[in-house]
Amino acid sequence: MTQLKLKQRLGDLLVGEKIISEAQLGLALKEQRSSGGKLGSTLITLGFITEEQLLSFLSQQLNIPFLDISALNIPQQTVLKLPEVHARRHRALVVKSEDNNLTVALSDPADLYAVEAISNLLSLYQLDFAIVRESQLLPAYDRLYRRTKDIEAFAGQLEDEHRPTQEFDIFRDVDDASNEATVVKFLNSVFEDAVQIGASDIHIEPDEKALRIRLRVDGVLQENILNEVAIVPALVLRLKLMASLDISEKRLPQDGRFNLNVRNQSIDVRVSTMPVQYGESVVMRLLNQDAGVFQLENTGMPIELIKRLRSLIRRPHGMVLVTGPTGSGKTTTLYAALSELNEPGKKIITVEDPVEYRLPRISQVQVNPKIGLDFAHILRTCLRQDPDILLVGEMRDKETAEIGLRGALTGHMVLSTLHTNDAITCALRLMDMGAPGYLIGAALRAVVAQRLVRKLCGQCKSTHELASSEQYCLEKIAKEPLGNAHFYRSVGCQSCNYTGYRGRIGVFELLELNDAMCDALRRDAPDEFAIEARKTKYYRPLVLSALDFAKQGLTSIEEVLKLADELTLDDRSSDDNASQDEYNTEHMITSEVLTSETLGANIAGNIRELDKVDRGDIEKILRLAEVVRALDSSGQ
Ligand SMILES: [Zn+2]
Repeated sequence: MTQLKLKQRLGDLLVGEKIISEAQLGLALKEQRSSGGKLGSTLITLGFITEEQLLSFLSQQLNIPFLDISALNIPQQTVLKLPEVHARRHRALVVKSEDNNLTVALSDPADLYAVEAISNLLSLYQLDFAIVRESQLLPAYDRLYRRTKDIEAFAGQLEDEHRPTQEFDIFRDVDDASNEATVVKFLNSVFEDAVQIGASDIHIEPDEKALRIRLRVDGVLQENILNEVAIVPALVLRLKLMASLDISEKRLPQDGRFNLNVRNQSIDVRVSTMPVQYGESVVMRLLNQDAGVFQLENTGMPIELIKRLRSLIRRPHGMVLVTGPTGSGKTTTLYAALSELNEPGKKIITVEDPVEYRLPRISQVQVNPKIGLDFAHILRTCLRQDPDILLVGEMRDKETAEIGLRGALTGHMVLSTLHTNDAITCALRLMDMGAPGYLIGAALRAVVAQRLVRKLCGQCKSTHELASSEQYCLEKIAKEPLGNAHFYRSVGCQSCNYTGYRGRIGVFELLELNDAMCDALRRDAPDEFAIEARKTKYYRPLVLSALDFAKQGLTSIEEVLKLADELTLDDRSSDDNASQDEYNTEHMITSEVLTSETLGANIAGNIRELDKVDRGDIEKILRLAEVVRALDSSGQ
């Protein structure tokens, strides 16, 4: 075993090597005595030394390697040699296992107590040590100590308890209390795993021979298949009890909710059950109540745009809409705007379905159509409650839209959302719903359209040379040369679960209504409205904001092209991606009214397809040629 012991005290060594001065050491020791921290971290906090310097120094002195574990591919069975609780307590991680040898990375190898504890815990092995940044350890714990193994083990145990004695009957009642504990453990592991990797939804889907558990992370589902399909009824039963649903009703869909404390976070769980061919499928949306304050700065919105939005929502009256499909981050933006307005001097009422996050000082009303409490009904009452600001979860119908617009005209600031593709179609959608143009023109102040694009994983992204076809489409989209921008592409590594992406960032367009636009609405002239809107100085389409992120290396050009494709589909308000490709292809040939923007994006889609498939596919090339010809004749 490597002997981990410094020849002298750390402070003396650092002074001896002239990395810090005597005076700095004196100050740090004094600070350390009062704050009780370690000398190393105190020196870093005081700015006398960087973490990098300290760790390199320790690595030299102790003659152990300084590892960048983000670049390592560490198998889970290696990590599990040291249980999570000890790993976290001692800031240690087993990074390599070979025969009887383990390499343990430590963030503070000068901590003799930790070294001794680890040595005792792993006394059966020969140990080598290495040094690693603490900032790399914490995310590594979350990633590597996932609960997949526990989940599988509990599933196995549960299935043993549920093994059918005679005929296999999936609808069999499960009321045996003995397996309750295992069910709870199983579900706890699933919830812990989901929270650990930042999942937004958990899908439990029974199949004929398998149970699929899928977690949605950054908008994409990740699948885990278990063979223990017999445990499904017990799981569903337990979840239904937790969500106060009717456990005898198995043929109709049900909705409910419950609260859960996972890893010291309060999670609000929305449960939806649905009967499917092989039992009941359960989808749970996880809303983290401790997600922190909502801030416009955290949404990805450029600072210029934030400033303009702030001045808009601080006006005494008018309507501001946030638009985009489901899952585009509208609610977060709306809450962030609302949080800024949440002051003791202002009365704020929200009408929501469902109430997603609880905010202090705000009256939040839950829509409940079962007892006749619909949006319109609540809205009328709300206006009599003298609010300064009113948030309406969604403009769903003519009645809601009209009451909202009238409220905005009579001294209230009204915030709401609408399902449309971009900001310009938003006003037109209100007209389609039957709201009179003069009312929209008088009340609507601005529309924010929003989408989320996936952020490239910083650990594994690599530079990307644009193919000439890609360059062509991007320049068509940008309507200008790209210059010498550098692009990156997704690769996939351990820290991003091999997806190449981590987290998402919002792209926005803000359309402020000017006199000419309001005038067009008052005259019920939607085409003129669109023309005026495109002319406004600040208007910058969503796809260009996405392209900006790609130029900054934050996202990939795939994400930009995907967004461009989506935006060409008028009125596609769901986020169902399954049939999208088919729909795109159909749409491309049949649509007679392609605008110049949609043409550019459709070419993008076509070229991308061409890059993927056999280049001899003449039909597709012909179709592409056709689009290019159309584009040229439209004067682009
Ligand atoms: Zn990665």
